Order: sequence, then structure tokens, then C-alpha cells
Amino acid sequence: MSSLVAKKQVVTEKLKAFLPAGFEVMVADLLFENPVSFKIVPPRSTKLGDFRAGINGEKHQITVNGDLNPYAFLITTLHEFAHLQTYVQYGRFVKPHGEEWKATFRELLLPAIDSKLLPMDVTNALVRSLSSTKASSCSDVQLSRVLKQYDKPKEGIVLLESLPKNTTFVLQGKHFVKGDLRRKRYLCDELATQKKYLIHALSEVKPI
Ligand SMILES: [Zn+2]
Repeated sequence: MSSLVAKKQVVTEKLKAFLPAGFEVMVADLLFENPVSFKIVPPRSTKLGDFRAGINGEKHQITVNGDLNPYAFLITTLHEFAHLQTYVQYGRFVKPHGEEWKATFRELLLPAIDSKLLPMDVTNALVRSLSSTKASSCSDVQLSRVLKQYDKPKEGIVLLESLPKNTTFVLQGKHFVKGDLRRKRYLCDELATQKKYLIHALSEVKPI
């Protein structure tokens, strides 16, 4: 067995812990076909993953949060590979989530959709996301909402959007009162300062 095949087997085995069953070979193939440093990292609250173009001959880098549920891990990984492949093909002068990125993401997603290995609600959310004419972003709210349902429930924690108006809740140690929806965020009052904050509808908060 060649050392490359052996290496790939090790990577494929490692990926199993993070991905839905049946996707480890697909992702291992991507890792070996694209020159990239792929890191599974401790969770960051501001993003699920990211792509950084290597400069001066450095390798490109993709990071993905290690605490994502398997479906979110897969979609985030494909999202970041779409950034990588778009960068390799078109360079830095196209929009981050423009037509080129969308077409690349679609190509990466289609085998996942066609595999029939994903739950129906995830598949439907992906198809909707692909056919949406709106500009995509790193955070497609409809898709995130579906993916979040597969997170392990955390004691006492709910999504802000599930709380009734005027509920008091805690987020990052501060107390807020939920107000009205403005696009994707709720206008909330911080109790201590009476300042207003726009907090994302899918933030994980603790009602009190
Ligand atoms: Zn993105």
C-alpha cells in the first residue's frame, strides 16, 4: 500500500467522528485534491469556519469548529472549500459569496444532496439555499435554523427567536429583555445600562 493511500485512510478514519456517516471519503478526497491546511479547531462564537488564502507560497488554510453537529460540520466544510476553489480559480477579485462562489458551492453540494444520506429537512434547506436568488452569506438563516436542530440540547439554553417578547434572558453574562425583530436580529434592552442591542435571532440564550 502506498504511503499516500495509508495517509488518506488515517484522515478518513479521523473525519468519521465529525461527519454524518458516509461522507468521510468525500471530504478526505477534497482534502487530498486541494492543497490546503485543514484544521479542526476549538469553537469560536463568531464563526463556524473560515478560509484564509495563503500568501507568499504558504498553504491555504481552512478551519472548522470542532463542536459542530455532523450536518453543520459537513456543510461548513463544503462552504469553506467553495471559498478555496473559488479563490484558486478566480483569485481575490470576485465577491466572497458572488456568482462564482455560488456555482462552486452548488457543485460541491450536489453529490451530498444526491447521496440521499442526509435527512429530508437538511436536504430541503440546502436545495432552497441553492435556488435562492438572494446573495448568500456565511450565515444562511433558514439553513442554520434547520442545522441547529441537530445540536445536542444544552441545559436551559434556547434560541432567542423561540422566546416570547419581553422575556428576560442572559447572554454572555449580561441580562437583556427581548424586543422586536429587525430583519435577522431582535432589538433588546440590556437591563444594567438600558442600552439597546441588536441580537441575532439564532443566538443561544438562557431565559430567566
Ligand atoms: Zn463564506
